[in-house]
Amino acid sequence: MSIIIDGKATSAAKREEIAKEVAAFRAETGVQPGLAVVMVGDNPASAVYVRNKHVACEGVGMFTETMHLPEETTEDALLELIDELNGDARFHGILVQLPLPKHINETRVLDAISPDKDVDAFHPYNVGALVTGRERFLPCTPAGIMELLRYYDISVAGKNCVVIGRSNIVGKPMAMLLLAKDGTVTVCHSKTKDIKDITKKADILVAAVGRPRFVTADMVKEGAVVIDVGINRLEDGKLCGDVDFDAVSPLASAITPVPGGVGPMTITMLLCNTLTAARLAVSGR
Ligand code: NAP
Repeated sequence: MSIIIDGKATSAAKREEIAKEVAAFRAETGVQPGLAVVMVGDNPASAVYVRNKHVACEGVGMFTETMHLPEETTEDALLELIDELNGDARFHGILVQLPLPKHINETRVLDAISPDKDVDAFHPYNVGALVTGRERFLPCTPAGIMELLRYYDISVAGKNCVVIGRSNIVGKPMAMLLLAKDGTVTVCHSKTKDIKDITKKADILVAAVGRPRFVTADMVKEGAVVIDVGINRLEDGKLCGDVDFDAVSPLASAITPVPGGVGPMTITMLLCNTLTAARLAVSGR
């Protein structure tokens, strides 16, 4: 019987811890950690994520404001807003919800966020800090996965860890965090040959591919820990992960479901980063 890793329960427990830390921080410093969320356009999925972030911030006692700009907002106008938010002491963290409309250069906008307020940890400064073991903010989805492993007492040291996917948001930082915990890490991508031979050796397998049920039972070693990052919307409207859950779960020693696995942890780690940003601001570092 495999353990079904409960991201909802873990996230709720972690948010309780964060709420206590926020209360203590406010009592000690008089400062309320604040997050600015910027959304451009009317992507329905983004609207749900942004709303969830707002509710999550308020739930742990943080200050938050969502700036919803129209689809036709120019890149210059958005950069101007980021510049204002960089200088606004009410906000310790700034998050720009992706994707942005096509006419806006995402990289330019994300790079304009002050590295000290970059709670998504996308800025090259923070990426470099992560790679060199000097991180301040942790990339939210991979950090949420590390937190799940910690809550479930799953050690990484010495394990064969295979990450499928090499995006800047998930795959690459995931590999770095596993490496930092002494895992032996292999990263697979669309050009990887004989991927099954590699995934079959994984003690910990992380799927961040964006393809429904990409990981099938014949790709997984008996007893492996399987982490499914994928969020895929099927034609019938249902959500589905990158792992064929029904076929893989009998083999795995532990596995995350979709929904209710990795997903709930991502926003929770954003809250952690916002608190870290507030601490940094107060300490002047
Ligand atoms: P992405 O930027 O599209 O990256 C997908 C990665 O998968 C790429 O590196 C790609 O390789 C690789 N890939 C695609 N087809 C492959 C194949 N046939 N064999 C091996 N590798 C293949 O996606 P992402 O942003 O990392 O997101 C991945 C999934 O996680 C999506 O379903 C997304 O919705 C979900 N997600 C969930 C959360 C959460 O909070 N739970 C957060 C972020 C993302 P190449 O680099 O060679 O193209």
